Amino acid sequence: MSSRAASAIPRPTYRDGDFVPSRDVPFSTDLDELIAEIRAGNAPNIGRFCGYCCAPLGAEPEDAAQTCGVCGESTEQTPAVDKIDRDLAQIYHAKRKREGLYVHLAAWSGIILATGLTILMILLLPGWTKVFAIAFLVLGGYFMGVFFGNVLIQGFAYRAGLNMFAKRWAAWQSQALDAP
Ligand SMILES: [Zn+2]
Repeated sequence: MSSRAASAIPRPTYRDGDFVPSRDVPFSTDLDELIAEIRAGNAPNIGRFCGYCCAPLGAEPEDAAQTCGVCGESTEQTPAVDKIDRDLAQIYHAKRKREGLYVHLAAWSGIILATGLTILMILLLPGWTKVFAIAFLVLGGYFMGVFFGNVLIQGFAYRAGLNMFAKRWAAWQSQALDAP
């Protein structure tokens, strides 16, 4: 990847550790949930979405233009659409998968680490106290798996997922602009 392409990737903005959607990185949590529901077959791909970022807009107001709460686009500039773009839905899905992968990897690292510590305890503990190693394997493996998977990695997976979204969104946008 050239440095020019790298600098073109928009950076997600955070306020107090929480992601704030912007025009450059218009990730919508509502849309994320809706896409998951549609993929699961629990919702149809129909509604009223922002023409720029596909965030759900809700019911159409009487005769006023509407501003998207995610990207700030007005329905006057870009008319609302009634379907979520397929490629964009793919990007949202890929982001979810990536986050899930990180959480799984982290949970397994915790379990493997606990197993390693257990083996060490069996080797080092004298006589009957080796029984503590088994207790540690059961409890420690569980807690380390949960801790690594849920606590330690959550913030990292969250940011990595948004970075991935930003990169794919930018690529998708430039592709859409290049199309005749
Ligand atoms: Zn929007």
